[in-house]
Amino acid sequence: MSTFIILIFMCAAQVGAKIYSHYHLFKVIPQNQFQLTGLKAMFEDGDYKIDFWIAPSSVNRTTEFLVPPSYVSRVKGILHSLDAETHILNKNIQEVIDQENEEQAHNGSQYTAYASNSVTDKYASYNEIKNLLHSYETKYKHLSVIKFGKSFEGRDLVAIKFSTGPGKRVIFVESGMHCREWISIASSLKIIERMATTLGQDPEIDELLRLYDWIFVPTVNPDGYYYTHNFDRMWRKNRRPINFFCTGTDLNRNFAAGWGGPGASPNPCNPTFRGTSVFSEPEAKALASFVKLVQPIAFFSVHAYSQYIMTPYGYTYKKPADSMELTHLAHKAAAAIKAVNGLKFTVGTPPELLYIATGGAYDWAKLEANVKYSYAFELRPTQSYGNGFLLPKRNIKPSSLELFAALKTFAKGFYNR
Ligand SMILES: [Zn+2]
Repeated sequence: MSTFIILIFMCAAQVGAKIYSHYHLFKVIPQNQFQLTGLKAMFEDGDYKIDFWIAPSSVNRTTEFLVPPSYVSRVKGILHSLDAETHILNKNIQEVIDQENEEQAHNGSQYTAYASNSVTDKYASYNEIKNLLHSYETKYKHLSVIKFGKSFEGRDLVAIKFSTGPGKRVIFVESGMHCREWISIASSLKIIERMATTLGQDPEIDELLRLYDWIFVPTVNPDGYYYTHNFDRMWRKNRRPINFFCTGTDLNRNFAAGWGGPGASPNPCNPTFRGTSVFSEPEAKALASFVKLVQPIAFFSVHAYSQYIMTPYGYTYKKPADSMELTHLAHKAAAAIKAVNGLKFTVGTPPELLYIATGGAYDWAKLEANVKYSYAFELRPTQSYGNGFLLPKRNIKPSSLELFAALKTFAKGFYNR
């Protein structure tokens, strides 16, 4: 094939967004080792084009995955041969994506119960987020916007820092490493909005800014986030091409924390590809340098979905020496979340709740950056909700209140330690 024809193919592939018509969302809970092994083989075999939203981990733990229509009968056959009880949560995920697009277009309409802001009430684009942060910077004195690097495609990696005076310890919150987890970005942005605009009017914000400086990185993976808005809603990784066929590294598998071990794929086509080396990805590397520079007392990775507060470590079943203390605070935060809207968040390490995952940012913060309090959230919804990552935007405000309640509880918990 000539280079010219290849180029035409590549251009054609870029026209319009990927369509998910009749993609089926499956849910299976393996009941025995045989079924689990079969699911894991599906997970590791890129040929099936199956997108695992929740990877298979152990017996009796939920796995959820999206299957293209052309593979549905084949996958059903495999599951039948495993004698696995199969639930189909959705038979046409494109309908949900269409609903989401429609909702995005009609801003503020049916959800007027909350103060309306055209950017923070929807799943804002990268540029809208960046512009909003800069608009705060021109308006408010207690915050600054920090560029700490560039993405592979040249977008600014942007943080916002809140500080009402010198000498305070820093709490660091990052979101959007997995760019399809839109609720994590939107929930963080709502908190940023509150910290920016309500100082002196909101006693909770006043207190949090009296105790600490706060740094938020709302979109750690801006190229991927742009891609989810314009080309493929279900994209998870960054956008650096690895070879002719496959693009992207799972940034949350690229950190120096058991890198290259289980729960991270060596296959560049896999959604959990670990990268070509530790910190091979500019976004992960820049975030790590920034965290080392800042030396926060606490580091939070915000993800979705499953409603978990995860304590270290993700890369091993071993726990840090202060695990009891960290877990105790996480339970308090979970109680605070429950008090907001009644949602249950479960506390545990990734191997306890999901699976071992190596190369994760919050493990790295604890292991390598000397951050004592390091956690990861999986925000709403629960597993089995049906549309996992495709959460209607009316969830943004309540989800952000849940995240806020947890962060506040943690912050107060750290203060006297
Ligand atoms: Zn994630």
